[in-house]
Amino acid sequence: MDLGLKGKTVIVTASSTGIGKAIADGFAAEGANVAICSRSKQKLIDAAYDIKSKFGTEIFWGVCDLNSKKDIESFYSEVVSNFGKIEILVNNCGGPVPGYFSELSEEDWDNAYKQVLLSVTRFIHLVLPDMINNQWGRIINITSVAVKQPVHNLVLSNSFRAAVTGLAKTLSTELANKNITVNNVAPGYTLTHRLYELAVNRAKTSGKSHEEILTEMAKDVPMNRLGSPEEIAAVAVFLASKQASYITGTTIQVDGGSIKSIF
Ligand code: NAD
Repeated sequence: MDLGLKGKTVIVTASSTGIGKAIADGFAAEGANVAICSRSKQKLIDAAYDIKSKFGTEIFWGVCDLNSKKDIESFYSEVVSNFGKIEILVNNCGGPVPGYFSELSEEDWDNAYKQVLLSVTRFIHLVLPDMINNQWGRIINITSVAVKQPVHNLVLSNSFRAAVTGLAKTLSTELANKNITVNNVAPGYTLTHRLYELAVNRAKTSGKSHEEILTEMAKDVPMNRLGSPEEIAAVAVFLASKQASYITGTTIQVDGGSIKSIF
């Protein structure tokens, strides 16, 4: 199936590893021009080399800390100088620190706000003028199943993912008549560095090994396994496609059936 993404220009944020990297791969496989960013120059060089050698498409990379307005603005202007207008924006980010409410400082809340919510609004502000001018655009936010069912010990994620979901729904209505869609993909347990770190963190307080914690996580999933980053990426890429033109304001969970609620 031709998804209509060949030659489209896409920014995928926080994309040197994990779910973001798999999404960058997914767009490159469809022939899109992909811009990736994260804080580590070496990881970006490795990721860009990997994508270019697998798919042969145009890749632009830039060091960008999503907590910094200055970094976001300069990354965006470098991408525009390199590729021209941005047609698709995928807002991914590193996960905020885990912890119970009583353990977290005001600085933790401030960092999570900047990383999870403010980075999304900053990127959207930058890409919207061109999308409105073109009367076409796709904005996709990677959130979490936490928006449907708060996750134990992740109060920062539970709070700010909900805020991103509220933002996306509001924007989807404001932008619908401009042919710009805004949707979220909500991953469940997905085997990446982030999940490994969460398992190590839980292991510290549970007396179990992180391997046992990962096995327990998989057992919680009706499919009896963890997801792969490629399974999240497939949905993000589809939401950007021409076939997804009438889908906006939604959250699609990709969780092997973990969430028990109907909606
Ligand atoms: P990951 O830790 O494997 O990758 C995160 C990426 O973000 C890396 O490329 C890292 O370099 C980059 N990054 C981190 N902080 C950054 C910053 N300040 N500025 C720029 N780049 C930064 O994580 P992942 O598992 O791929 O998760 C991606 C997102 O999906 C996270 O927000 C995570 O909370 C969410 N999520 C993951 C799971 C899961 O099970 N893996 C489940 C639900 C939600």
